[in-house]
Amino acid sequence: MSITLPSLLVRLTWLLAPGRCVLCGLASHRQRDLCDVCETDLPRVIDPCPRCALPMAPGVSGSCGPCLLRPPRYLSLQAAARYEDPADLLVQALKFGGLRAAAKVMAEVMYERLPAASLPPDAWLLPVPLHPWRQWRRGFNQSTLIAEELARLGGWRLITRAVRRRRSTRPQSGLNRAGRRRNLAHAFEARPGRVPGKVIIIDDVVTTGTTLDALTRALLHAGATEVHAWAFARTPP
Ligand SMILES: [Zn+2]
Ligand SMILES: [Zn+2]
Repeated sequence: MSITLPSLLVRLTWLLAPGRCVLCGLASHRQRDLCDVCETDLPRVIDPCPRCALPMAPGVSGSCGPCLLRPPRYLSLQAAARYEDPADLLVQALKFGGLRAAAKVMAEVMYERLPAASLPPDAWLLPVPLHPWRQWRRGFNQSTLIAEELARLGGWRLITRAVRRRRSTRPQSGLNRAGRRRNLAHAFEARPGRVPGKVIIIDDVVTTGTTLDALTRALLHAGATEVHAWAFARTPP
């Protein structure tokens, strides 16, 4: 497990004073472990494309140009924040610092900012699976922790054990778009009969969307008819 210094500091502050803001360490003065100031600081995606959650030019309606040319397999992607300071700190505190309170905070912000009404009410939540070896080394799947909190908040059902990550893919960083697609092709295996018709994939951060696309491909092959995605953060272009 790699721990960055900022995430370690956040974790230590929180452990010493539970019930406080997971980002600044001050009393949050409310139920949520995130103070008003830090929550307002979480940068929103301005004018997001409904298919890829990247910002669109002002005044453009429908999907962005790249999505019109090459639509992703998932029908929609919504993200609660841009993957920039301090949203990135929250993600790293969970993923690398193991601060589980961050998962609850991220789910609460997602549930508040993202329009749940735009998604089918009978959909099931599916956290992006990690390869079993990586999950064993990390001790948890950060997307599962977020999805469990979201399921509690919105009354959704959770998909477990219907999809597995087939082999440990090489790190995606450093590969171009085509390389990423090849690297991830067939990375997921969904079991027919275990996959419901409508699925909302839950992820902590979406960078290029190729992981989501590969997962959607496996779900559609296994019988899903409608796949959407919710992420806490979206990496800006
Ligand atoms: Zn704060
Ligand atoms: Zn788009």
